[in-house]
Amino acid sequence: MTDVIFEKSIKGMSGVTLTDENLATDFIKPEFLRKNVPELPEMSELEVMRHFKELSDKNFCVESGFYPLGSCTMKYNPKVNEYLTSLEGFTSLHPLQEDEDCQGALELMYKLQEALKEITGMDAVTLLGSAGAHGELCGMMIVKHYFKTKNDTKRTKVIIPDSAHGTNPASAGMCGFEIIKVQSNNKGLVDVEHLKEIFESNKDEIAAIMMTNPNTLGLFEENILEISKLAHKNGALLYYDGANLNAVMGITNPKIMGFDIVHLNLHKTFAAPHGGGGPGAGPVGVVEKLKEYLPVPVIDFKDGKYFRNYNIVNTIGKIKEFQGNFSVLVKAYAYILMRGNTLKEASCDAVLNANYLKEKLKEYYELPYDYPCMHEFVLSGDRQKAAGVHTLEIAKRLMDSKFHPPTVYFPLIVSEAMMIEPTESENKARLDKFIDAMKTIAKEVKENPEVVLSSPHNTPVKRVDETNAARHLDLRYRKD
Ligand SMILES: *Cc1c(COP(=O)(O)O)cnc(C)c1O
Repeated sequence: MTDVIFEKSIKGMSGVTLTDENLATDFIKPEFLRKNVPELPEMSELEVMRHFKELSDKNFCVESGFYPLGSCTMKYNPKVNEYLTSLEGFTSLHPLQEDEDCQGALELMYKLQEALKEITGMDAVTLLGSAGAHGELCGMMIVKHYFKTKNDTKRTKVIIPDSAHGTNPASAGMCGFEIIKVQSNNKGLVDVEHLKEIFESNKDEIAAIMMTNPNTLGLFEENILEISKLAHKNGALLYYDGANLNAVMGITNPKIMGFDIVHLNLHKTFAAPHGGGGPGAGPVGVVEKLKEYLPVPVIDFKDGKYFRNYNIVNTIGKIKEFQGNFSVLVKAYAYILMRGNTLKEASCDAVLNANYLKEKLKEYYELPYDYPCMHEFVLSGDRQKAAGVHTLEIAKRLMDSKFHPPTVYFPLIVSEAMMIEPTESENKARLDKFIDAMKTIAKEVKENPEVVLSSPHNTPVKRVDETNAARHLDLRYRKD
């Protein structure tokens, strides 16, 4: 490939004009100057611009097209958020500055904590988690510490639904908990009878149950109040994986549902870029009785001053350097202020968009759980598989129409799964184009499967050896 900038270098070309005032030798001491001329590509400014534009055009992002990656909430991230994080008052701060010298930043974090308390119904919030999974780990450490300080050593098990995101069992497992899987019933919801049996046969051994609501099938766990009562009656805590909060903001909250600990994904629900655009943030909210276990520092306010509070009685300690991923916090706070009390509308539109797609697509693809969905839904490619085309191929074929594929092969309880989450950002015209593309593929599978099997045809990279690409990732450029 001739895509590497060094290979485009032409000797003697230059993109900058150095004047006498800015020669490095004038302001860098001789002992710090390099001995050899660096091997930099020699190019005109125009060629440099073209190079990077070409590279960026190869990328796919929400700005280039529809991105219905289920469970990831790839909504539009307003550009004003980028502008706000680049304000000098934020970018020039050093995390070790005294509290008095960064009152503005502390105020922002404090007010974000307050806003998240209101949105989740929780009594205290830490902003330190740097991703959803990190928030989960923090939450499970709080569960562990809580029972330890109560001298309750028997509670060594955590219940997790079979539809859960893989990070849930991983986080609980990392805290040393044994995982017990509770199965889903034929409606795609937690099987309450099975849950009762689990509590019955593990008396006083269950530390927590981790739930996602709506769950990863995009279905609302309608028995959640019965489940939370059951858990509390058995002395267990309830953990809410809030990665799907985009479905319920301002409509209900985890407190109303009976949860004790919640993590949120600011990089999903609150419009901070993620994936290749990271970093993320996974704040954790807790009810009153768990406040004293939060990691330090918590941002507090007293006598007219904001300060970093390290004085938390039973703290689990530090989980992240300094104050977490501050720029993500700025973006989330800006988004919350910008939407104000229209946060609820975002959720309503996300749910409406998902139901619209679901109803239009269920004629062409199997819909294993045919109920009104929340912000996403899961189709099965079983019908297409019977014709010799797997979900993976459908995903690749979608790229030819400039759509990012949905999440595939997750959740694990649906075979040939395609998990579709449109978000509230899309209009009907765009959704209709996606419906057309999915319809066309369903037709191709019947009439001309070869065109699907050999896709993608229009992307910069065609078929890759997925296993090798993942196992032997090699991104280094070798000059000859
Ligand atoms: C995305 C997601 C997570 C993990 O969040 P990360 O920020 O990727 O660590 C956990 N649970 C659910 C349901 C998710 O969708």
